[in-house]
Amino acid sequence: MPVFTLSPKTVDGNPINTQQLYGFLPTDRNEVVKLATLALDMRWSWNHAADKLWRQVDPELWDQTQNPWLVLQTVSKNKLEQLLEDPPFRKKLDELLQKRETAATNPAWFPVKYPHAPLTHVAYFSMEFMLNEALPIYVGGLGNVAGDQLKSASDLGLPLSGVGLFYQQGYFRQVIDQEGNQQAIQTYNDPGQVPVVPLRKANGEWLRIAVRLGAFKLWLRTWEVKAGSVRLFLMDSNDPANLPVHRGITNELYGGGSDMRIKQELILGIGGWKLLAAMDMKPEVCHLNEGHSAFVVLARAEDIMKESGCSFEEAFFLSRPGNVFTTHTAVPAGFDHFHPRLIDNILGPYAREDLGISVEKLLALGRKNPADHQEYFNMALLALRGSGAANGVSRLHGAVSRQLFSDLFPRWPIEEVPVGHVTNGVHMPTWDNEYSDKVWTKACGKERWRGDLFEMESAICLLTDEALWELRNVCRESLVQYIRRIFERQSKLGGRLDHQQLDLNEIFDPKALTLGFARRFVPYKRTNLLLKDKSRLVRLLSQTSYPVQLVLAGKAGPGDEAGKALIREWIQFIDENGLHHRLVFLSDYDMGITEQLVSGVDVWINTPRPPWEACGTSGMKVLVNGGLNLSTLDGWWAEAFAPELGWALGNAQNPTGQGLSDEMEAAALYDLLEGKVIPEFYTRHSDGLPKSWIQRIRNSMSKLAPEFSANRTVRQYTEDYYLPAAHNFLERNATRGALGKKLFEVREQLESNWAHISFGEVLTSTEGDEYCFQVSLSLGAIDPEWLVVEIFSAGSHGKLPLMQREENAADNGYYSYKGKAPASIPIANYTIRLVPHVRGLAVPLELPQILWEH
Ligand SMILES: *Cc1c(COP(=O)(O)O)cnc(C)c1O
Repeated sequence: MPVFTLSPKTVDGNPINTQQLYGFLPTDRNEVVKLATLALDMRWSWNHAADKLWRQVDPELWDQTQNPWLVLQTVSKNKLEQLLEDPPFRKKLDELLQKRETAATNPAWFPVKYPHAPLTHVAYFSMEFMLNEALPIYVGGLGNVAGDQLKSASDLGLPLSGVGLFYQQGYFRQVIDQEGNQQAIQTYNDPGQVPVVPLRKANGEWLRIAVRLGAFKLWLRTWEVKAGSVRLFLMDSNDPANLPVHRGITNELYGGGSDMRIKQELILGIGGWKLLAAMDMKPEVCHLNEGHSAFVVLARAEDIMKESGCSFEEAFFLSRPGNVFTTHTAVPAGFDHFHPRLIDNILGPYAREDLGISVEKLLALGRKNPADHQEYFNMALLALRGSGAANGVSRLHGAVSRQLFSDLFPRWPIEEVPVGHVTNGVHMPTWDNEYSDKVWTKACGKERWRGDLFEMESAICLLTDEALWELRNVCRESLVQYIRRIFERQSKLGGRLDHQQLDLNEIFDPKALTLGFARRFVPYKRTNLLLKDKSRLVRLLSQTSYPVQLVLAGKAGPGDEAGKALIREWIQFIDENGLHHRLVFLSDYDMGITEQLVSGVDVWINTPRPPWEACGTSGMKVLVNGGLNLSTLDGWWAEAFAPELGWALGNAQNPTGQGLSDEMEAAALYDLLEGKVIPEFYTRHSDGLPKSWIQRIRNSMSKLAPEFSANRTVRQYTEDYYLPAAHNFLERNATRGALGKKLFEVREQLESNWAHISFGEVLTSTEGDEYCFQVSLSLGAIDPEWLVVEIFSAGSHGKLPLMQREENAADNGYYSYKGKAPASIPIANYTIRLVPHVRGLAVPLELPQILWEH
């Protein structure tokens, strides 16, 4: 690893030319290298200690971009020299570097808790990463999850690296014109101005990776981003050595059709693994954040194949326990599917030449029915077949995913389909407002998000009513100021002359109940539910005794006319009813807008149509700032909600609102706002404080903020997924895969002989409060040590009673088993079943065989 480094120190004993390392810097002075080190560590996106320093370098550019690297790349030599002559500036710089050093060496959660763990490196693959506006390589939720988990991994001292793509264009920027139409503006990610640097070998050469793309060789340029102790490696295809048409593959995130998508996914999975290998990195665990990166399981197998000279099938089996697959999709259409011909065209030569398998074999890995030659190739199926564990992203989504993948596990009860869940969380230091940070620091200390959060709940509970209310007032006031600034800017941008007559001080009220949401404008999110009864919403927003205001933001996909119509409907509603002072649609939703909204709103509203929202994270971002949630019981809210914490649309009898029309749900939403939310906010105690509201904030902040933090998520991934994955991977591959190869044989045997197993006689009797079962089984060529016989009853939880094999009871090839089960339910509810059981083999994930008595 030491060959590739961002450290300005020497590599191989030779000083690195800063120009080579960093691109253009105004001077070569040592202090400038220090500044570059700070500017390139995206820790500044959640730790704002250096903000003042960057502001000194260029106040205007800093305020506009908050991108230290850009500031440093733009400043003149004279200005910089002048600043570096200034002792307080130099002192501050040294202090910051010192703090950075301390943060890097401070014992964090992982190395303290698991000093001898077999886990030395997790590679986290994702199509998008949302770390900061300064590096726009994301669209939304998926990138948010990836970015926030990377940052928490850094906080926790987890040895993790991200792997992704460096898109030449960010997601489009949004302008809303006079009629309320969304206009899409494309911007360009100038590699010299976003906080990335080329990955270079010790001799200065830029590291480039070659992959096979159909019949062509494709060169990938490589980049590195630093975020605290975590590194994010990025690739792009814009290498002049490529065919011009190939240079554009990484232009646009989710751009183009499936032809473009598969090429991007090939780069991410296969290129990503080769990039790690080129740096001598052999992570024990690859985390596939969504099926997009599933091709990595092929590249990993290819490596093992070449190392140990085994077949592809064996290598695939050996590498499998080291891969963890997280699915984020709630509907089958959400998975990437590719036409078999496209797979042949793009991956055929790779399969034949490098993996030594036919395209049909490869296609089978992505099909429900491998024998169906028409079936499309599904990336999620490849990911599941190539991983040693899989999970959804909320409790509810875990259940939905078990349903979605149940076809691969025929005859298994749905609860046993091997897809668990780890509910997403957000990186609280990114989303807390400056003032919230102060309040939290006072209550829980500076290092609060770097440990296991045990003490947090009780510390937050001790915050006084006054302190909590002050927090809300400060945050809301700051949002209102922001809205006024943005309102003016966007009115000018969109050419809204009428708006320029409005008095900005009339736009929003810092003391009024502020509702809000921001999200992608897609039908399932039902962003327009509040518009179902327009006159009722007008009444709600224009009454003056209990003022209510609403702030919105969101983009529709560039080609999504239905989504754009939803935005237009809001804009026209505001205009037609003259509601500008109470209802604002902020254009160009991005991370910067999110930060403002989630700090200022009192109630975050979310109304997806269940069960489409796999998790949802935007509502979690308000928790740390004392905001409350009002949401459909979908995604994370289905498990987070309790009446004292916030509000739920739908109810315990009908949690998913099944069968309710949008009109009925909208009516329930207005009722909730009018009958509960607004009165509670405005019911003031004699000291002017809304006591019940504040208590609700206290509950929500103390209970939910720790639980729905990415800190908890990453710790859970580490303990439930990464550590077992590393252990299983290493065990299977120890001594050149000795155990693995044996297991591979056993699995083959079980698979090919399973059909020959048959049930003989089953006898039952009752003994006291237990039933006794006796069964004889013909196992054919299968070793009885490889399976267990269980007494199953529907709805039973936990371990099933096992039946014991009678010693030396093999009679005409029949084995006899005996077992007992509680007689508390009718005997007819029990049935006997056989499942494979081999230490080191994941059942049913790796072997879905099962046999039922009936
Ligand atoms: C948080 C966030 C998202 C994801 O929000 P969901 O509630 O999961 O849809 C998307 N985009 C931006 C800019 C965000 O900040």
